[in-house]
Amino acid sequence: MPTYNFSAGPAVMPAAVVQQIQAELPSFQGSGMSIMEISHRSDLFDQVINDAERDLRDLMQIPDNYRVLFFQGGGTLQFTAAPLNLATGHHHIGLLNSGHWAERAAAEARRVGTQVDILGTSAANHFTALPTLDQPVTADLDYVHVTTNNTIEGTLLTQLPATGNVPLVADMSSNFLGHQYNVTDFGMIFAGAQKNLGPAGLTIVIVRDDLIGHAQDLPSMLDYQLFADKRSMFNTPPVFAIYAAGLVLKWLKAQGGLAAMATRNREKAALLYDFLDQSTLFTNPVKPSDRSTMNVPFVTGNAATDAQVIAGAADRGLLNLKGHRLVGGMRASLYNAMPKAGVQALVDYLAAFEAHHA
Ligand SMILES: *Cc1c(COP(=O)(O)O)cnc(C)c1O
Repeated sequence: MPTYNFSAGPAVMPAAVVQQIQAELPSFQGSGMSIMEISHRSDLFDQVINDAERDLRDLMQIPDNYRVLFFQGGGTLQFTAAPLNLATGHHHIGLLNSGHWAERAAAEARRVGTQVDILGTSAANHFTALPTLDQPVTADLDYVHVTTNNTIEGTLLTQLPATGNVPLVADMSSNFLGHQYNVTDFGMIFAGAQKNLGPAGLTIVIVRDDLIGHAQDLPSMLDYQLFADKRSMFNTPPVFAIYAAGLVLKWLKAQGGLAAMATRNREKAALLYDFLDQSTLFTNPVKPSDRSTMNVPFVTGNAATDAQVIAGAADRGLLNLKGHRLVGGMRASLYNAMPKAGVQALVDYLAAFEAHHA
């Protein structure tokens, strides 16, 4: 029986990549050592990190005036690092409150003394739609923080707010490389790897080079300029995670790149949403135009039935469908590495459950 992993993160990786890791693990590139055992200062690793950066630049068409940095500390550390590095002019940022991760970002920015103005929020409808920008974006804001995909609430930002000359900082943790954006629309993009790129332990930062280097006396491990100068090797980087992410980037290129992935992701998500919308048992609460292609929350309205759905799914190899504790019910995460066959298997199971339940 095939298994399909619908976890929100750490999440499914391409099967071909996992197999390649297995095959290469004992002796990386004929070195007699595994990738976990080689020096980050070796030529072997140099090639790995250079390839990863080049492939990411190709896939996202990242211009030369943006730096690509490899961090640790997850998306969460960037909630601190972004204001420390970029909110140096006024210590004042704007933020669109689209849900849990946006609120976490606001809280962490405030902890380091940044004034955070909420420029729009959809809290009143429990974040089942995206917020609109309803405060002016004034020139005393160092940047505006947005979450491009709300992993828990299941919304996707496709129309970026108009912020004029004030840079946008995007938390792309859960739809990095899953939806196409123009890098030049952002001052900075960050994403923890474990949703849509690779193993936990790696966080990608893409930042416009004129925005960095203005902060004084930052802790070294939070300093974008230092990481840029040291090619992300100020200290030991997460060697294995960078290697594995690099293989996923090569896989993405072989799949046809981001345009092909985004199309496939829309098709996969439509399969599930179309089922949910005609179902009399299951519902997705999100406003249709704001629905995520990556994370699809849904409920029956009855916690005991939800638990039956999740347990029955697991028996059929449809794994990790339990919803986030904040919203309950089910959540299917359909990241790049989830094949269409997995979504079809989920829809078939849900339809059979519903028929049996009626
Ligand atoms: C998972 C997630 C985070 C937090 O990521 P960590 O790597 O666990 O710190 C932040 N933002 C979004 C949108 C996420 O999905």
